[in-house]
Amino acid sequence: MHEMSYCEGVVEAVERRAGTRRVARVRVRIGTVHRVVPAAFQQSFEMVAAGGPAADAETEVVTIPISAVCRECGERFTSEDPAPSCVACGSLHVDASGGDEVILESIEYRPEPGPEDGDAQAEPTDEVVARHVHATDDEQQAGIGPRGW
Ligand SMILES: [Zn+2]
Repeated sequence: MHEMSYCEGVVEAVERRAGTRRVARVRVRIGTVHRVVPAAFQQSFEMVAAGGPAADAETEVVTIPISAVCRECGERFTSEDPAPSCVACGSLHVDASGGDEVILESIEYRPEPGPEDGDAQAEPTDEVVARHVHATDDEQQAGIGPRGW
């Protein structure tokens, strides 16, 4: 289950921001090239977050498509396929970009228990957690990968 490696970076970022607040919901945007399955992400998240402020959080995964430009006919399109063929002419000579980001989009906290019941607070975060999760050894040693491994 490769979703685990994504969750480590995300949970780390969430916990760093949450401090003592309890997290209700986490929204992440993950590029389609990572092929993350939302249900598996939730499961992995629960395992990684266990015992911390985000232990009971629900996750919402939004898949980001790649942007592509056809080299044959110039058609621009987006695709969920990391290696798409052109939607207009069928050419395989397509330049694809994006679709590789892992972004913590927002965190929603549980209301603090108290005399007044507050509403859940959502905090927009838009933190780039990782781009190339399958980092090379050199990048991992430089600490670019999630938790360095
Ligand atoms: Zn084309």
